[in-house]
Amino acid sequence: MKKKVGIIGGGAAGMFAAITAARQGAEVTVLEGKDRVGKKILSTGNGKCNLGNLYLNRECYYSNDLSFVERAIERFDVMDTLSFFRGIGLLMKDKNGYLYPSCEQAAVVLDVLRYEMKALQIKLNENRKVTALHKKKDKWMVETESECFTFDSIVIACGGKAAPKTGSDGSGFELAKKLGHKVTRVVPALVQLTCKEDYLKSVAGVRADAEIFVISDGECVAEERGELQLTDYGVSGIPVFQISRIVNYLLEDKKTVKLSINLLPDYSEEEFAQLCQIRSLLQEGRTTEEFLTGLLHKKLILLFMKQAGLKGDLPVSQAEEAKLKNFYKMCQNWVLYVTGSKSFDNAQVSAGGVELSQVTDNMESRLCKDLYFAGEILDVDGKCGGYNLQWAWSSGYLAGMAAAGTPVVKE
Ligand SMILES: Cc1cc2nc3c(=O)[nH]c(=O)nc-3n(C[C@H](O)[C@H](O)[C@H](O)COP(=O)(O)OP(=O)(O)OC[C@H]3O[C@@H](n4cnc5c(N)ncnc54)[C@H](O)[C@@H]3O)c2cc1C
Repeated sequence: MKKKVGIIGGGAAGMFAAITAARQGAEVTVLEGKDRVGKKILSTGNGKCNLGNLYLNRECYYSNDLSFVERAIERFDVMDTLSFFRGIGLLMKDKNGYLYPSCEQAAVVLDVLRYEMKALQIKLNENRKVTALHKKKDKWMVETESECFTFDSIVIACGGKAAPKTGSDGSGFELAKKLGHKVTRVVPALVQLTCKEDYLKSVAGVRADAEIFVISDGECVAEERGELQLTDYGVSGIPVFQISRIVNYLLEDKKTVKLSINLLPDYSEEEFAQLCQIRSLLQEGRTTEEFLTGLLHKKLILLFMKQAGLKGDLPVSQAEEAKLKNFYKMCQNWVLYVTGSKSFDNAQVSAGGVELSQVTDNMESRLCKDLYFAGEILDVDGKCGGYNLQWAWSSGYLAGMAAAGTPVVKE
């Protein structure tokens, strides 16, 4: 008899689990809360969908159990991702290791997944938000607002709390909790940070290559380099996204968090001091503003002069040495105090989720037989670069195999 598998949530992980289970001969039904599946995929990678990365290992992830993540991404790795998508007709390209569809259209990634589901006769039930789950004898009863479904096994792939407009509103965590699962603290990740300094308005729109150090309790707890984007409320850009989950956990723990920003990361402190020495030859006949021009973005020069108490129109020969020193210090150690982050609405992922200690390597719950998890609902989040979708594929594959009765790992 065909195994009846119910997939709760038709996002990246749910669709992948559905396809995998159907290929194993299961009768698969997807229950999706929104009016169509895969809404989030459409906004991934700025509409181009960065669906994986050739550079893949445990360092690309955060979780309370990175060994668990490592085992999963080894069992379904980036080569498997490539051959899966090739197999369903998608041409792909790699940009410095970052994988995209060749057509650079996220909508096409969703299309090929949908067409494969159709070809496998997977039943799609949209507008079916799951509200309750319980077991009756050895069957899972799945309630939606309008009807009840019965399955032999189910995969919860409801995502986390990020970008709730796309359907992931955290209801999956509630379903998991009601069945006794522990969910670790969930915070927005890959998200913009807000800062205390009002004067950031004057430099909003500036982009600069920078090294960012996260300082808490006097200790540097993280660092990232990349294109920093300054905004009227704080900071954004890939390096900020990467540090945001750490910052949000620190803030939740009521810790003070400041960023030390090096806007001249190609110079060591000594090299920069030498450079300043050499530049002092330019002083002759120049105002302070004219003298400092060329070091950084013009808006930053004006801001730092103001912060250091330097008057731009006075001859630089009259500028106080201590004030000039202050200015130079800001170029390599500009300190901003973080007050928080943008909300889940703006976050690309949520950090935290169902505790991995309650899940087997086949993604089965250790508390409820024939119940599996896949994707962001689990306590796994990746860095920017295709790692979150890779997690959706890897965990979706393992959950789909096992839910269909053909587990990859013999336990
Ligand atoms: C703007 C943006 C850009 C991103 N770019 C990238 C990128 O380029 N590369 C990358 O790797 N990652 C990217 N990500 C992250 C990546 O999209 C997610 O990590 C991934 O989609 C998670 O897949 P998932 O299936 O676990 O969850 P989701 O994609 O969130 O899917 C969950 C699904 O479950 C449904 N659902 C929720 N609750 C219920 C319920 N109770 N009943 C029924 N259905 C329910 C939802 O409607 C949704 O369809 C991006 C995210 C965002 C928001």
